[in-house]
Amino acid sequence: MPQRDDSPRPEVGEALFPPPPPPPHHSLTRMGGGEPQRLDSPPPAREARGGEGSGVGGSSAAEERAVAWANADAPDIVRESLARFAGHIALVSSFGADSAVLLHMVAAVDKAAPVLFVDTLRLFPETLAYRDRLITHLRLSNVQTVGPGAEAVARHDPAATLAETDPDACCAFRKVTPLDDALSPFDAWITGRRRTQAETRADLPAAEWDGTRVKINPLAAWTDEHVATYRRAHDLPEHPLAALGFPSIGCWPCTSPVAPSENPRAGRWRGSAKTECGIHRPAAVPKGS
Ligand code: SF4
Repeated sequence: MPQRDDSPRPEVGEALFPPPPPPPHHSLTRMGGGEPQRLDSPPPAREARGGEGSGVGGSSAAEERAVAWANADAPDIVRESLARFAGHIALVSSFGADSAVLLHMVAAVDKAAPVLFVDTLRLFPETLAYRDRLITHLRLSNVQTVGPGAEAVARHDPAATLAETDPDACCAFRKVTPLDDALSPFDAWITGRRRTQAETRADLPAAEWDGTRVKINPLAAWTDEHVATYRRAHDLPEHPLAALGFPSIGCWPCTSPVAPSENPRAGRWRGSAKTECGIHRPAAVPKGS
């Protein structure tokens, strides 16, 4: 397994934004239902179902779902998504401050549904502990932890300084490429993004086409209050950093606490122009659909 970065937590410096490096190897571990298990071979190739213009996947299916789910309840969107894309859909979770809500909705339908978690090796220890706590609490049996392999770390960030000098390149090899590889068997994925999290998400539809697969956002219309109410109603554990002023939690070099008056994502890459890690590309479904 790649070595976790235990170097002192630095302040993030000014960001530079050159093109990302070529894809490195990544690692994949399955968790839940026992000890973590290293998977020595990549997941099977995605079957030739879905795709552009097909009845199951494709941009037309995403657009149709965006319209159909425009006013749907989030648990219903989750339930319908898991049925419609049965065996070909994964939830991508950061196990962050809001993550318990969507994980609970998925677990209520299928505790064995694939959940993909990207461990960049620069996460807060509290996030890893929270992941393990939620796996146990919700009895999730198929949480797959993916991330950069040791070879990729040695090649791209041997001194663990890339977050300060080139955060786009750092996110590319630590997050984007491992997740892209992990999503390759799937026709659809579920995210926890919401419109109120950031101006860049203000137009978020309930479903969109990401160019390869259908991306479903059941919580798109939810506010902070919706999330808090659901979490209280189901007595879900809170991320240990949430009460310390971290409403949005990423890697520790790039996450700072926010003031109550700030946008929830204001603490991500604070002081730089960067607002997204690159996992979420622009939506293909126009506003109003
Ligand atoms: S959030 Fe920061 S540390 Fe994490 S992958 Fe991106 S640049 Fe690197």
